[in-house]
Amino acid sequence: MQINNVELLISAVRPEQYPETGLSEIALAGRSNVGKSSFINRMIGRKSMARISSKPGKTQTLNFYKIEEKLVFVDVPGYGYAKVSKTERAAWGKMIETYFTSRESLKSVVLIVDLRHPPTNDDIMMYDFLKHYSIPCIIVATKSDKIPKGKWEKHKKVVKETLDMDPADPLVLFSSETGKGHDEAWAEIYKAIEN
Ligand code: GDP
Repeated sequence: MQINNVELLISAVRPEQYPETGLSEIALAGRSNVGKSSFINRMIGRKSMARISSKPGKTQTLNFYKIEEKLVFVDVPGYGYAKVSKTERAAWGKMIETYFTSRESLKSVVLIVDLRHPPTNDDIMMYDFLKHYSIPCIIVATKSDKIPKGKWEKHKKVVKETLDMDPADPLVLFSSETGKGHDEAWAEIYKAIEN
């Protein structure tokens, strides 16, 4: 898909601030520095729409990006950054829980993990949370360009086993450097918004 129009609608914290667009939403979640901004930018064909984080863990808002008149990407602040205070962590948790569990237009959560390493405890918690609330999800394992092709299957297996993934959930190998997985990720997103 050729994307010409991307608009940051709002940086929201509370439900009253969520935009009313009537469009389906896809949330993007992952630990700080996993490559979430790069994923978003590659998917929308921009260099720096979603800010590439210089200070991990800093953005504590849900950023709603309207993609054409088609759908809305909701960029969720990254988790697992050690220097975030307990209070901030709790506020983050409440914000995410409220959005994930109450938002009717949320069609799926793209959970981004790093293909190079086994998913972290925070990744596992996030995945379990989504499963607990029966929120559809798409797992994207990024930075695949850092792993030789011959080892992709082995690393995929580690991701699946560590998350104890539901075999019905899609796992997309991705690279923001090469664009690998771009079409497959869009196909999964389209499937999710058509449901
Ligand atoms: P965020 O904190 O999750 O938004 O992560 P960023 O998108 O800011 O990326 C963190 C770092 O990983 C940056 O230095 C990116 O250039 C790098 N990065 C992100 N995605 C990829 C990828 O697919 N391949 C490689 N080699 N580096 C990546």
